[in-house]
Amino acid sequence: MLDVCLLGTGGMMPLPYRWLTALLTRYNGSSLLIDCGEGTQVAMKKAGLSAKPIDIMCFTHYHADHISGLPGMLLTMGNAERTEPLTMIGPKGLERVVNALRTIAPELPFEIRYLEINGAKQHFSINGYEIEAFRVNHNVLCYGYTLSLIHI
Ligand SMILES: [Zn+2]
Repeated sequence: MLDVCLLGTGGMMPLPYRWLTALLTRYNGSSLLIDCGEGTQVAMKKAGLSAKPIDIMCFTHYHADHISGLPGMLLTMGNAERTEPLTMIGPKGLERVVNALRTIAPELPFEIRYLEINGAKQHFSINGYEIEAFRVNHNVLCYGYTLSLIHI
């Protein structure tokens, strides 16, 4: 079964009762997070969700309200003694943006694998998730994601 938790639906700045846009799914012991703005960790704590099992992070785009929570999230995952690799999916520039944010979170006990989306659409199959990235309109390069599960 796929658990889906919409952690936030707000934009620009986190509010006490409306966190920034983020979504977490759980399937077969593997979590997937879409976007990680400021306060996403707090929204996860309030929902009783753990950061440690996040195996996949998808980013829609690199405006701060969608990614500025990443360094703290990575440190929390590291402090939870995560050692499994983390896969990140995002628009062109993913590794550059994440490395810039990692200036303040340089030492992590797990590897990060980067998958940059090429073109208007791209499909990824990871940990039982079928992930379809598709281009959407915004003033910077931006993607939406469709998630489904591999049925064996
Ligand atoms: Zn934006």
